[in-house]
Amino acid sequence: MSAIAFDIPEEIQSVAEGLTAFLDAEVVARHQQHHELLSNARHTYDEDGRYVPEVVALIREVRMAAAEAGYYNMCVPENLGGAGLGKLAYYVCWHRAFHHCGPQNWLTVYAVSHWAFGPSPVLAKVTPKARDEILTDMLAGRTSMCFGLSEPGAGSDAAMLRTKAVPDGDGWRLSGRKIWTTNSPIADYCIVFAITDPEKAAARKGGISAFLVPTDAEGFEIESIIRMHGNVGGDEAQLVLEDVRVEPHQLVGDLHNGFGTALLGVSLGRIYNSARATGLARWSLELALEYTKTREAFGQTISDYQGVTFPLAESAMEVHAAHLMGLNAAALLDRGEPAIKELSMAKAYSVEVGARAIDRAIQTHGAMGFTNELGLSEAYKTVRVINVADGTNEILRRTIVHRMLGGDLAL
Ligand SMILES: Cc1cc2nc3c(=O)[nH]c(=O)nc-3n(C[C@H](O)[C@H](O)[C@H](O)COP(=O)(O)OP(=O)(O)OC[C@H]3O[C@@H](n4cnc5c(N)ncnc54)[C@H](O)[C@@H]3O)c2cc1C
Repeated sequence: MSAIAFDIPEEIQSVAEGLTAFLDAEVVARHQQHHELLSNARHTYDEDGRYVPEVVALIREVRMAAAEAGYYNMCVPENLGGAGLGKLAYYVCWHRAFHHCGPQNWLTVYAVSHWAFGPSPVLAKVTPKARDEILTDMLAGRTSMCFGLSEPGAGSDAAMLRTKAVPDGDGWRLSGRKIWTTNSPIADYCIVFAITDPEKAAARKGGISAFLVPTDAEGFEIESIIRMHGNVGGDEAQLVLEDVRVEPHQLVGDLHNGFGTALLGVSLGRIYNSARATGLARWSLELALEYTKTREAFGQTISDYQGVTFPLAESAMEVHAAHLMGLNAAALLDRGEPAIKELSMAKAYSVEVGARAIDRAIQTHGAMGFTNELGLSEAYKTVRVINVADGTNEILRRTIVHRMLGGDLAL
């Protein structure tokens, strides 16, 4: 049964089917086999909040198995060695993955390359020498990277960053701090954004460049893991760079135009997060619907109480709308349209709808809704943070309105 009228190409549907089977075999199976390690935070993280080596090894195994099976690089451009599938495939596959696996089987996030952590169109901007050095291992899932843009004083307004790239012979020396850098604790490389022309940067006319930096470079330090939402460990870290030497071939994209490089990944990130929110929302809604059929109160199953079921109907309406918006924005991008407004609307709406749907699913379950076992709290946290990550929902609203005030009134 389908609730969607427009056709999703056969090829994409079959990739999504194959990915689901892959996730069962390589992700869900690993979670079952290593249940305690992957689901009990006391075992997953060490004292410093980093993944223990066994978990890092499992993450790498999933990346490599996904690369071998063809899913990891499915949306990486063909000229970089990927399958070159488009944004609709990216949305459909991520939506399916999160809907199918829920939040507990969290190794799912390593099954398809996330633009900031692995191969992506951004790598088209690295120099041929750097590409020769990193691409083979990156495509095989053996190595990964992270994206160091945000700083303690520069978030939504990334142009306020302070990290400096001071010329040093034919290269530069980088000094500064980065924060919230996802995947950095286990990454092999970091794309670091730094000021290369202070005057241009102060005038907000460029002057910021991107550099590919190995995370074991001298002067590059993971200062601390950031614990969020009550977790004992995490994926995000604070980084310190002290006089880190970079060679000319480590420049990514054009000098002084680092933000142009960053933009290459932004739409993939927003599609990923829209799909993650709608996928987890559907997973939670189905869980809640099932529960209402079995839980009894006052002599009847709670599915007989409209006070319980109407909020779920609300979720169904909202998730359906958000899902259509995600599919539509991805399809527009595949047609070569910028879809800036549509993608902003899809991401902002999906994460808000997702958080509301999961919250309602928690309420439907009563006390059971808060248990770690069910995973609803985990799903809520996941979707709640993406209201801020990857462009806050206020910044997305700002973009939507700027577009409309500028004449883009199409809805
Ligand atoms: C889980 C997670 C992972 C992340 N991963 C990375 C990463 O890998 N790499 C990286 O570089 N960064 C990463 N970030 C950082 C992320 O990009 C920033 O958090 C985001 O850009 C917002 O910046 P901020 O947190 O400093 O909030 P601020 O910019 O300080 O904003 C504070 C509040 O003010 C609002 N606000 C600001 N300006 C406006 C305005 N003009 N109009 C209306 N409201 C406004 C914001 O919406 C927000 O509500 C991550 C963040 C999170 C939560």
